[in-house]
Amino acid sequence: MIAIAERKQNIDLAEVVQGAGVEMKSRGGRSVGHCPFHTEKTPSFYVFPDNRFKCFGCGESGDSIDFVQKYHGVDFKTALQILGIDRQNRTITPEIKRQIKQRKHRAALVERFRRWEVEKSNELGLLIRCTYKVMRSWKSIEDLERGGGILHPLPFYEYFMDILCSSDDEAKFQFYKNEATNGELQPC
Ligand SMILES: [Zn+2]
Repeated sequence: MIAIAERKQNIDLAEVVQGAGVEMKSRGGRSVGHCPFHTEKTPSFYVFPDNRFKCFGCGESGDSIDFVQKYHGVDFKTALQILGIDRQNRTITPEIKRQIKQRKHRAALVERFRRWEVEKSNELGLLIRCTYKVMRSWKSIEDLERGGGILHPLPFYEYFMDILCSSDDEAKFQFYKNEATNGELQPC
């Protein structure tokens, strides 16, 4: 109904009335003519700048839709069609629908990315903590030789953690895309 109200504002009621065959004369910002709803000798049918009409003879009044309904004896829906409001709404609706769909799609992508950001930070934090815990448990050079392999990915974990802790969304997104193609990091 908001859309109809907005479209109604763009209608020039004086023009609609004249288009219906009622001769109107401009008088001080208003239009006046012989009322189409009753027979009169002196014009008392007014159209005001806010697109409402009133007849001071018979009392008929209303907006552009009311005028068309009364003048043509049609229902609300047909009045909208006559005024072109209905037609304009039909052309605008698929575009608005498309925009809403696009906004929802973008919001869903951003939400998925933010969720991944949190999950990935937790995962990397765990990997880093695990690695240091294992390192601290080493008592000899043999332990290091046996388990040293787990140190290899540590610089990468820390590098990615730095990215995730930064505000560089572009770098995070690169990481996000790379991970989608290269697979998940494995916890220790
Ligand atoms: Zn009248």
